[in-house]
Amino acid sequence: MVVRNATARRSELEAEQARLLAMIAQMEIESDENLGYGNHMADDATEAFEQAKDLALLQNAQRLLEQVRDALGRLDDGTYGICENCGNPIDPARLEALSYVTLCLRCAQRLEG
Ligand SMILES: [Zn+2]
Repeated sequence: MVVRNATARRSELEAEQARLLAMIAQMEIESDENLGYGNHMADDATEAFEQAKDLALLQNAQRLLEQVRDALGRLDDGTYGICENCGNPIDPARLEALSYVTLCLRCAQRLEG
């Protein structure tokens, strides 16, 4: 398979970063709006559930953003595609699927149990 060059990878990661930033901004706007319309004919349990779900989504997006930024940093210092744990190259197919992974498959499986 063709391993794409760092420039292509960078623009892909930057696009992902922009997408996540837009998503996070949107979720923050929505949670502000929800605060404004609280206690309004809403079932409390449903409301709490929705807020918890939104928060989980927001935290997930923030964590992804963190990983994407890390990956961009690793592109800069030339360690992109190298497993953080064992120092071996990460399988290109794995990078293709998840461009911001920091561990090779073997280490990921071992560390995640
Ligand atoms: Zn490894």
